[in-house]
Amino acid sequence: MAAVEGLMQDYELSLQHVLWRVERLHQKKEVVSKRDEGIHRTTYGEMVPRINRLAGVLKRIGVKPGDRVATLAWNNNRHLELYYAVPCMGAVLHTLNLRLFPQHLEFIINDAEDKVLFVDQSLLPLLKPLAGKIPSIQTMVLMGDGPATAMTAKENGLADFLDYETLLAAESESYPWPKLSERMAAAMCYTSGTTGNPKGVVYSHRSQFIHTMGVLQGDNLGLTENDALLPVVPMFHANSWGLPYAAGMAGSKVVFAGRFSADPKSIVELSQQEEVTFLAGVPTVWIGLAGYLKESGQSLPKVRTVVCGGSAIPQALMEAMDALGLRMLHAWGMTETSPLGSVARVSAGSKPADELKLRLTQGRVAPGVEIRISDPTSGEELPWDGVAFGEIQVRGPWIARAYHNGYDPDKLTEDGWFRTGDVAKISPDGYIQIVDRTKDVIKSGGEWISSVELENAVMAHPKIIEAAVIGLPHPKWDERPVVYAVARPEFKGNVTQEEIIEFLKDKVAKWWLPDEVRFIDEVPKTSVGKFDKKVLRANAVPIQEGVKEGVRK
Ligand code: AMP
Repeated sequence: MAAVEGLMQDYELSLQHVLWRVERLHQKKEVVSKRDEGIHRTTYGEMVPRINRLAGVLKRIGVKPGDRVATLAWNNNRHLELYYAVPCMGAVLHTLNLRLFPQHLEFIINDAEDKVLFVDQSLLPLLKPLAGKIPSIQTMVLMGDGPATAMTAKENGLADFLDYETLLAAESESYPWPKLSERMAAAMCYTSGTTGNPKGVVYSHRSQFIHTMGVLQGDNLGLTENDALLPVVPMFHANSWGLPYAAGMAGSKVVFAGRFSADPKSIVELSQQEEVTFLAGVPTVWIGLAGYLKESGQSLPKVRTVVCGGSAIPQALMEAMDALGLRMLHAWGMTETSPLGSVARVSAGSKPADELKLRLTQGRVAPGVEIRISDPTSGEELPWDGVAFGEIQVRGPWIARAYHNGYDPDKLTEDGWFRTGDVAKISPDGYIQIVDRTKDVIKSGGEWISSVELENAVMAHPKIIEAAVIGLPHPKWDERPVVYAVARPEFKGNVTQEEIIEFLKDKVAKWWLPDEVRFIDEVPKTSVGKFDKKVLRANAVPIQEGVKEGVRK
């Protein structure tokens, strides 16, 4: 039989649809931002004319379809305006990570050939070392509050800038949005560059649209119109996990913590005042928050979901949050996967005794994405038996197929799957358990030790708050694990290596026991708040003779 075409419309999937919903359906919904001078309050209804004006500004300053428009900004309402205006007028929103070193920022801006840069006034000092080094930037727009803007810019040797509010005031409240093709680039984000230079991931309108629908599904993150969302995850980290667009699509209230995102007290105060129901961020944020809530005796009864991703949730953290009445939802993903990859919901019929265990896995792959694990040497697909582990590979409509400028073409397999670099096992019913990053897994005596599992076991010790494990070279075993542990403040100086190793003895295999436990004040973090093992490795002193043999025997 000849192929028969479906008779549905060729409707282009674009972020303009999200903007349409924001304008038509969610005018009354609030957008609240914590700023230095206090709380800024607006609504989607008030924001839409500003988004239109902003599109007019972009056009006036010469932004053409496909041009990259960079932002160096905190989580706030203006950043959200840019999230809509830039892609909806056909340009590409490039969110810069404000925690990067100047040389990384310089590399990224040049690699992306950003044409315009929108910068929050308080972040201007970050640009000072870049003066004269980012030639593609033709226009800089400052998002400040009053005359201090000009002063600060000049002080930083950055004389040429325009003022955001002045520009907006001069434009019309309506904008003739162009017809977009769903294949056009909408936004780009760089990987955090834990190895080598960061690489640009370019999202299309289509991928963003479908990802937004995916995020909203009940079995995924399940954000709804009834929610008040506080994304602690920065708007530069993988598009804030897609949550700003999901909120716009659903009509959720949005609360931004601005530059106070790293401060648990501010997060708690804002959540209480604004009746936040939905939080999202990396584990380190929640470790701080759980500690603050416990200490201050406060609670967040309105919060129904705390999405946690970016690194594995330590069991001790999930239990501490459970005890505080805060339900964590574990999600896995990466910049290259938009980022939603999998979510740990407890599936129907699971035994109550298994609940915690299932919630601590990386969950099951999100509808819309396909997953497989493959043997790192032979490349062969491995079974989902909960035992075999190999590299996670994924494919789907919101998974990258290439990097900007063609870096790292080997990330895609010959048959079109994206190599994530994460090593995992998958249970017969599809629960993913990440064992490690390929580059972090410890190769000892021809076998693998999961640094993640070892870290979690150490972090379960009552005297320990944070622990990172790395493999260090060893003449006999190739590599051996070394723990870098941070004692809880009340146990500082009062916890020993022997105590930790003793504690681990009935929790991990004997040959997994670390050769050394080194106590430090803080685990170094990457620009997005994950343990920075690269820094630990670079500064690590070699394993001490004697200790290792004692443990290994
Ligand atoms: P990024 O692109 O900065 O979001 O980093 C992505 C990487 O973070 C992934 O490839 C994983 O190695 C790690 N990651 C993200 N979410 C999780 C999670 N839930 N558990 C363990 N690792 C995670």
